[in-house]
Amino acid sequence: MLRNLSKTIQIQKAKFATAAAPAPNTNPEILYSGLFINNEWVKSSDGKTFKTENPATGQVIAEVQQAGKADVDKAVKAAKEAFRLGSPWRTMDASQRGYLINRLADLAERDKTYLASLETLDNGKPFLAAYYGDVSALVKNLRYYAGWADKNHGKVLPTDGKYFAYTRHEPVGVCGQIIPWNFPLLMASWKLGPALATGNTIVLKPAEQTPLTALYLAQLIKEAGFPPGVVNVLPGYGDAGAAIVDHPDVDKVAFTGSTEVGKLIQRGAAGSVKRITLELGGKSPNIILADADLSAAVEHAHMALFYNMGQCCTAGSRTFVEDKIYDQFVEMSAERAKRRVVGDPFRPDVEQGPQVDREQHTKILSLIESGKKQGAKLVAGGGRHGDVGYFVQPTVFSDVKDDMDIAKIEIFGPVQQILKFSQLDEVLERSNNTEYGLAAAVFTKDLDKANYLIQGLRAGTVWVNDYNVFGNQVPFGGFKQSGLGRENGPYGLNNYTEVKAVVVKLTEKNS
Ligand code: NAP
Ligand code: MG
Repeated sequence: MLRNLSKTIQIQKAKFATAAAPAPNTNPEILYSGLFINNEWVKSSDGKTFKTENPATGQVIAEVQQAGKADVDKAVKAAKEAFRLGSPWRTMDASQRGYLINRLADLAERDKTYLASLETLDNGKPFLAAYYGDVSALVKNLRYYAGWADKNHGKVLPTDGKYFAYTRHEPVGVCGQIIPWNFPLLMASWKLGPALATGNTIVLKPAEQTPLTALYLAQLIKEAGFPPGVVNVLPGYGDAGAAIVDHPDVDKVAFTGSTEVGKLIQRGAAGSVKRITLELGGKSPNIILADADLSAAVEHAHMALFYNMGQCCTAGSRTFVEDKIYDQFVEMSAERAKRRVVGDPFRPDVEQGPQVDREQHTKILSLIESGKKQGAKLVAGGGRHGDVGYFVQPTVFSDVKDDMDIAKIEIFGPVQQILKFSQLDEVLERSNNTEYGLAAAVFTKDLDKANYLIQGLRAGTVWVNDYNVFGNQVPFGGFKQSGLGRENGPYGLNNYTEVKAVVVKLTEKNS
């Protein structure tokens, strides 16, 4: 089933408004803060730790062990040993691998409130979004890939001569997985699900801003019964990520994050021709034609940008609106942004929590200033919200021109840019005039216009009359500098398998 994350949350909220809404645990106990290697909790080799904070208050939540190069080495050794032919993992039935992944999904479901609460505390996203969005999507993703574990098979090939030729879909080996802070649990599942289903072993590095839920997930992996070394989780900084990329015994790297770091990873992986998949940034166009249902388009364009505090790689951060409806669209969008409820992410009525950290907060505020300076018209927000934590006012700029920084740079914050266009060819060209190509959307009732734009937009996903609709069955990834490879669906399995061709000579007769 396809799901629009933000809409799902609204529907669930409405459903639960009358019944008992799930109550968050506003003070979840921090149970794990170590490095998870070989199914054990250990300290960092050099004794280094780092602090993770609650972005709603700026207060420290926990001191976490910080993985360095020596720890990466240990984790890779464990993963390599777990991958050895004859190991419990390599000799496990494929159906049993699927069972273990399903078991992990069961445990995440059991601890849904705790996981969602921990995500809210460490990341700042609204609890109901974490509960109905992130944790639900994690469970579904794991179940989807659990089903694939015993179904991804090779083929028997007709050959010239007397041979039995077939292909085996073998696991790639030790996979380094480096994930960002915007959807920590969901990104972990997008990486773990297909890699485990196909029999790989893993060294996973969560982002330094949000290590806590991945660490709890590590404990659930142990509880589910995965053999030691199959999944290792190393909280740490970019240097630990770089050590994973450089390690000669890592066979593949899967990364989600900025295009800048993606390029470093591609360069680093070249040294040993590692397999890589990159899911990088975006500056996605959202095109609203004059015949679209106006109020629905305003709401979709609002959620396309503001969902998850604007911290989505797919954020519809260039809203192109046809000139005939431009002024009305701007007015309605500004009014909607002013109604957006900002505050304590544990409160059920809150739509927008804080940005993830001080660095992002500062970057967003400086881009807002650049918008003002470069002549965009500020019609809502425009500064920080409150004086505690890393909140930003829902901000809307109209009269945005293509060459302004706010129209070119990935802001990753609650700042909407509304641009005007008059012709289809013009908006197509302007939409594609970016180094990115992650996602795009079109709002119209005219099928011919929609089909024309679908064909012309250079993006990995195009939505029509909706936005941010994801499904485990639907491939996701970027054109151009938005990435390499696809996650989700059967396409996601290809990243984690090597195809081995086997050719066996058949004897003429029994002797
Ligand atoms: P980032 O630097 O790309 O971080 C993503 C992950 O890569 C983190 O785990 C990070 O570790 C790690 N990393 C950093 N340097 C590395 C290196 N040299 N080798 C291997 N791994 C490395 O992203 P960010 O700095 O958190 O955010 C910067 C911008 O990236 C945002 O403003 C946004 O525009 C974009 N972004 C995009 C996405 C997305 O979903 N596409 C997600 C997050 C951010 P650390 O713990 O040190 O960060
Ligand atoms: Mg944090």
